[in-house]
Amino acid sequence: MILDTQTLVKKYGTPLYVYDFDYIENRYMTLKEAFAGKKSMINYAVKANSNLSVIAHLAKLGAGADCVSIGEVNRALTAGVDKYKIIFSGVGKRDDEIREAIQKDILMLNLESEAEMKRVELVAKELGKEARISIRVNPNIDPQTHPYISTGLHENKFGVEIDMAKRMYIYANKSEFLNPVGIHFHIGSQLTKLEPIAEAATIVADLVRSLKAIKIEIKFFDVGGGIGVVYDEEVTISPSAYAQVIFQATKGLDVTLLCEPGRYVVANAGAFFTRVLYEKNNGSKRFVIVDGGMNDLIRPSLYNAYHKIEAVGIEGEKTPADVVGPVCESGDFFGKDVPLPPLSHNDIVVVHSAGAYGFTMASNYNTRAKPAEVALWRGKDRLIRKRETYEDQVRLEMDYL
Ligand SMILES: *Cc1c(COP(=O)(O)O)cnc(C)c1O
Repeated sequence: MILDTQTLVKKYGTPLYVYDFDYIENRYMTLKEAFAGKKSMINYAVKANSNLSVIAHLAKLGAGADCVSIGEVNRALTAGVDKYKIIFSGVGKRDDEIREAIQKDILMLNLESEAEMKRVELVAKELGKEARISIRVNPNIDPQTHPYISTGLHENKFGVEIDMAKRMYIYANKSEFLNPVGIHFHIGSQLTKLEPIAEAATIVADLVRSLKAIKIEIKFFDVGGGIGVVYDEEVTISPSAYAQVIFQATKGLDVTLLCEPGRYVVANAGAFFTRVLYEKNNGSKRFVIVDGGMNDLIRPSLYNAYHKIEAVGIEGEKTPADVVGPVCESGDFFGKDVPLPPLSHNDIVVVHSAGAYGFTMASNYNTRAKPAEVALWRGKDRLIRKRETYEDQVRLEMDYL
C-alpha cells in the first residue's frame, strides 16, 4: 500500500481504517477477466465492507451486489449499483424486507427454505407482482475452512437439500407469483481449496440439468463467494483456476455465471492503524496496549483469526508481545506473541488485511466511537466515513431524565 502513515494518522487520527482503492479495482478486474470467457457477473458481497464509497467504486467498474438485508440492498442502490445486478440473500427475511425488495425490482431474492418461499409468494401476491427468485442449495460439502465460516454442510443453517430444492423449483415454476430464475450455493468463506467448490458446482449443475429436463430453465448460476485470501502464508485459490472449475461443471448449460466475492475483493486492500498507549509486563508476559479494540476489529476475538501486525517505522530487537485493546474483555486482542520492537506512547501499529469484515463488524461496545475510514486512490487520500462522536452514539436514546 502506498501511503505515508504518519501523515495519514496525523490527518485523520486513530484508530483508523485505510483502504487501497487501486487494489480493490485490481482484484475486481482480475476476477472479472477470469470469467470473461462466459456470460458472467461479479456481485460484490456488500457485508464484507459496506462503505458507500467502496460499493460505488465497484459499481462504476460494473459490479453487481450480493446483499443480506434490505439495508444492504439500499446501500447498493444508493451507491449506484444497477437494480438488475442486486441479489438479496440471507436465511431470514422479514415481510417488510421481502416487500421492499420486490417493489424495488432487484434481480432476485435468494431463498433458503420452503417456508420462506411461501412467504415470498404471499407478499408478491399482495403486491400483485411476480418475484424473481433463486434457491440456495446446500450441497452438503465440507469446505475445509473454519467451522464458524462453513455454510455448506447440512449441519449449517444455510440453504436446502437437493431434493427439497427440486420440489421448490417445481412449486415456484407453477406459481403465478414466483419466477425461478436462479440457483445458488455458497459453501463457506476463506476457502483455499478448489475441490469442494468443484464438487458443489457439479452437484448443483446436475440439478440444473434435471430441472431443464422438466422444462424449468435456470438462467443464473450463482457460485457464491468464499475465495480465500492470504492473511499469513496460506496458499489459496487462483481466480483463473476457480473460473475454469466452474466452466467445467456447467459445461453445456446456457447460464449466466454469478459469483459473490467479498473478502477476495477487499480484505487485503485494508489496513487498521492504531496507536500505542503503553506497554506493560505481567510477570514475564509482555503486553502492548493500543487505542483500537475488539469493537473496531473483532476477527481475532471472534474467529481467532490471524492478522499480520507491525510497528510502523520502529527499529529495535523484537520480542513477543500480545497486542491488546482497552475493552473490558480478555478476548480483546489483535494478536498474540507478535514479534515487536520496544514501543512507546504514540507509536503506530498496523494490523494488515483488515479490509473485509473489519469495519462492518464494528460496534459501539464500551461506548467507543467507531473509527474513521479513508480511501487511497491514484495517490490521493479521501475521508469516506467520519469518526463517530459521542453525540452520534446517543442520538437515538430518549426519555432518560
Ligand atoms: C458472506 C457471503 C458471501 C461473501 O463471502 P466471502 O467469503 O467474503 O467471499 C457471498 N455470498 C453469500 C450468500 C454470503 O453470505
